[in-house]
Amino acid sequence: MLENRIVYLDGNFVAGSEATLPILSHSVGRGSAIFDVLAFAETQEGRAIFRLDEHVARFLRSAAALGMTLPLSEAELHAAIKETVRRNTLEEGAIKIIGFYPEPSFSLLPPPTPLHLAIFVLDPAGDFGEAPLAENESVTAFVSRWRRLDPRTVPIEAKVAANYLNGLVARTEAQKHGFAYAIMLDLEGNIAEGGTESIFLVRAGCLLTPNVGHILQGITRKSILAAAEAMGIATFAGALQEEILDEADEIFFSGTVHRVLPVSRVGDRILPDTPGPVTRMIAARMQAITSGRDPRFKDWLFAI
Ligand code: PMP
Repeated sequence: MLENRIVYLDGNFVAGSEATLPILSHSVGRGSAIFDVLAFAETQEGRAIFRLDEHVARFLRSAAALGMTLPLSEAELHAAIKETVRRNTLEEGAIKIIGFYPEPSFSLLPPPTPLHLAIFVLDPAGDFGEAPLAENESVTAFVSRWRRLDPRTVPIEAKVAANYLNGLVARTEAQKHGFAYAIMLDLEGNIAEGGTESIFLVRAGCLLTPNVGHILQGITRKSILAAAEAMGIATFAGALQEEILDEADEIFFSGTVHRVLPVSRVGDRILPDTPGPVTRMIAARMQAITSGRDPRFKDWLFAI
């Protein structure tokens, strides 16, 4: 239960019910909350956080892209995140770090003060009442008419709450049409990503994914590309036209919480036998890596 979790809040550890934000705060009014989401899992050596260094680096980049100042250094953030996991008993789940402005504000610009900081340990399924997806369960997807935010409009690689209106409208539209997830194209019409997921396609045994530039730099995406190369799977990161969705043998989303999310249908096109062989291999490898069963990728795990 969320209320029972111990939450890091500006240097203190408090009950989940005490970690709240005033309605008139700048972060509610303008969406000026930056965040990142990490995953931790049980390994033979205890609980470990997946790619803590990469997530904290991305959080720092989000702050820098928006000219915001964080109250902790990189090393202090590592320590605070680990300590928050230690103080909670959840065996595996997600960690959400949030930089926010609680000050009441009518201004467009955020207060000239450093961000405040909260760190939550979460069970993404249990804490929000959503049924967890079973292993290898697949989802349906719909190509949205909403295009991915263009990098010339806002810093799209900042994980800031305001940017998530883009994925929100795309996924809402997908659900209105009876599909679970959205696939967004960029302004040029190339495949970009899901609302909060990176996307991969498999064609003739090769793993394809859009290049960074018009998408969020997904840490699972980057990890899957490296793992696939270590597995001898050919990879390609570059411009992918929408038509490739009709030709792909397999399609899956990736992200911190689900890791690999196989897609069984895109619009009218049904992909038979989902998840396909490459998707299964990658999902199994990522499961092995995050639970510490692949020594080649031990340095991706940070023991708490
Ligand atoms: N794209 C967007 C827009 C996202 O919000 C996320 C979730 N952070 C991803 C892709 C997947 O990124 P990651 O693998 O780092 O969770």
